[in-house]
Amino acid sequence: MDAVAAQAQESGAIALLDEVDKALADGKYAEARAALEKLKTQYPNSSAAAGAKALEDKIAQEEAAARSGGAGATSKAAADKVSKEYYALLKSLIGKVAGDKSFTMDDCREYLDKVLPGELMDKLAARLKMERAALEEQWKNRAPADTRQASYGDGSWIVAGKDPSRLSDEAESGGGLEDFKKQKEQQKAIEELRQKAQDNKNYKPQTEADWWTAANAVKRASWLEAAFVEQHLKVVEVRYKNCGGCGGSGVVVSPQTQFCRRCEGLGKEKIVTYQ
Ligand SMILES: [Zn+2]
Repeated sequence: MDAVAAQAQESGAIALLDEVDKALADGKYAEARAALEKLKTQYPNSSAAAGAKALEDKIAQEEAAARSGGAGATSKAAADKVSKEYYALLKSLIGKVAGDKSFTMDDCREYLDKVLPGELMDKLAARLKMERAALEEQWKNRAPADTRQASYGDGSWIVAGKDPSRLSDEAESGGGLEDFKKQKEQQKAIEELRQKAQDNKNYKPQTEADWWTAANAVKRASWLEAAFVEQHLKVVEVRYKNCGGCGGSGVVVSPQTQFCRRCEGLGKEKIVTYQ
C-alpha cells in the first residue's frame, strides 16, 4: 500500500473513531457499535482498527454501567441533578429577560407563560443529553431536599392588591383580654390613618408600568421568578412579610399622611416558597 492510500486509511478511520466517541458520550451504544463495525470493515489496516477490541470492551462496559445505574441507586442522584440544573437555568433565563430593557412587563409575562416553560425543557434536555419525555417525567417526580424562595418585593401590590385586609390575617392570637384590646385599638388607629391616606389628593398612585420602569434588573428578576413559580412550579408556602417602609400598616405619616411609596399601601411583601 502506498503512502497516500495509507494516509487515506488513517484519516477515514479517525473520522469513524470520532463517531464512536461521540456516540459513547451521548449514551448511544448501538450507534457506537455500528461505527466501530464500519471502521473494522472499511479500514482494517488502520492503526485505529488495531485497537478495535479494546474499544468494543469499553462500549460494553459503559453500557452495562448505564443500565445498572439508570433504574436503581443513581436515579435519585439523576433526579437531583435535573432539579439543580432546572433551577440554575430558570435563574439564568429569567435574569436575561429581566435585564433586557427593551421588554415591557407585559412582554416578560407573556414570555414567562408562553415561551419559558418549553424553552427550559428543550435547553435542559440538550444540556443533560436526555430525551424530553424522560426529562419531563423525572422533573414531574422531583422531590428536592430543599425548598427555594422568590419574593415579589416592593412590587407585591401588583399581584396582591393595595388593600392588606384582603390578605389572610396571621397575627398570633395568643395572650389575653388586654392584648386583644390593644390589638383592636391598633387596628382602629391604622384604619383611621388609611382613611386619611385615602383622602390625601396629593398622592399619585403608582401604575404597574411605573414600578417596572423604576425597578432594576435584580428586582425585576425576583418579581418574575415569583410570578413564574406560582404559575408553573410546586408552591410549598405563601407568606407575607411587613414592608420595611411602613412597618406593615401601608401608611406613612411624615411629611404627610399618605400611602407608603414602597408598598403602595399593601404594607406587605409577598414571598413564595417553592420546589
Ligand atoms: Zn410600605
